[in-house]
Amino acid sequence: MRRNRKAKIIATLGPASSDYKTIKKLFISGADIFRLNFSHDVAETHIKRFKEIRLLEKKVKRPIGILMDLQGPKLRVGKFDDGPIFLKSGRKFTFDLNPMAGNKRRCFLPHKDIFRKIKKGNKILVDDGKLTLIVTRKNSNYIETKVKFSGFISSNKGFNIPNVKSANGKLTKKDEEDLRLALKLGVDWIALSFVETEKDVLNFKKIIKNKASVLTKLEKPIALKNLNKIIKVSDAIMIARGDLGIESPLESLPSQQKRIINACRQEGKPVVVATQMLDSMVNYPTPTRAEASDVATAIYDGTDAVMLSAETAIGAYPNESIKMMNKIIEKVESDPLYLNINEASHVKARATAEDAITESAKYVARIMSAKAVVTYTTSGSTALRAARERPDVPIMGISPNLNTARRLALAWGVHCIHTKDARSFKDMVIKSGKLAKKEKFAKKGDRVVITAGVPFGQSGATNVLRIASVDRY
Ligand code: PGA
Ligand code: MN
Repeated sequence: MRRNRKAKIIATLGPASSDYKTIKKLFISGADIFRLNFSHDVAETHIKRFKEIRLLEKKVKRPIGILMDLQGPKLRVGKFDDGPIFLKSGRKFTFDLNPMAGNKRRCFLPHKDIFRKIKKGNKILVDDGKLTLIVTRKNSNYIETKVKFSGFISSNKGFNIPNVKSANGKLTKKDEEDLRLALKLGVDWIALSFVETEKDVLNFKKIIKNKASVLTKLEKPIALKNLNKIIKVSDAIMIARGDLGIESPLESLPSQQKRIINACRQEGKPVVVATQMLDSMVNYPTPTRAEASDVATAIYDGTDAVMLSAETAIGAYPNESIKMMNKIIEKVESDPLYLNINEASHVKARATAEDAITESAKYVARIMSAKAVVTYTTSGSTALRAARERPDVPIMGISPNLNTARRLALAWGVHCIHTKDARSFKDMVIKSGKLAKKEKFAKKGDRVVITAGVPFGQSGATNVLRIASVDRY
């Protein structure tokens, strides 16, 4: 089974999409990767979903990626006895270290280090920005504020301080536990939330030792200041517009999205645009015009993947959301204007033999009207290099390593195939032709362009380009 598009779709699973039948439907309709969001639901529920996906993968005989998303160090206020308390603008409100229930004058903030880091004049956003306060005075055990924009405060609401480094670089207890489970299960991608510096990613990578690839979530303005360094050490990037939009001005989000996508494409790292893409489909069977346009824009921007969150996790129309996203992507990718934009935004080849061959493959395929670029890839790097070129035709990513095939489900244009490695040069050519026909990329009379690293089975070096006719096999 093949898709008729290059950009990929990530679907978050939740109560609306937990049984085998629904997950299968979502896959058929276009979900390439499933996301298990550990900010919600208990471990057993995630284990069950994980098993359903692996079962589905066996049945449909296609590698399917599984992304586990760690909650990360999200700061929250303490408990309030009664319901939400309304704080009018101009009022004073204090956060302190006293675990007593909150009232209209104060509440507990169970994050001691924040009292040290926060400064007079800092902005505090409570409940995804629904209440805004400004710090007027502080010391090591209280933060006195003045309400800037009225709003409600209640138990366990999110507490954000834009531009202040809030995490201590260590995983929370919950993340540690969830991570243990993820590694035991063998997920393909792990999303690291609220990353601030490249050190956060490097420390995390030390823990997981390449047992999974790391998808860094950009949700803090401070991470954008360290963007290039963060991209270099990450395996992929998520533009997590939900949290990013709380802490940075909304008007800057569209241009940041373009900047991040460009920076990722330079490095050849997959990038995901996430959150509220088809948000009204949580309740309605069709999206707003603005949402349809948002998905399209991400594709025109050149993203590798787009993500659905609440739409598929808790929405009333999970399958319709995937179908809609799939249709929008297909439509954009067949637009001549898209092809022009894609060509104009082509990233310069790095001066390596691997990049030179990979870039050439794109043009050879165009000149020869070949139907696919075939890459033999053990670690996935050859396929990712091909994706960086954004060729006109699909990339067949053939890997003897099932983990690589699953991880590549995230990459632009890569149709991953898990099969034994080629034994010889001739075998490589024969295999490419056979698979191109079997997977419906080519018919009799067609050609494909193959890139590989010879000798086979060693990762990294792409040193061969071959034009092959699929006829003889
Ligand atoms: P979340 O991340 O859904 O885990 O919050 C995505 C975002 O912040 O956009
Ligand atoms: Mn988030």
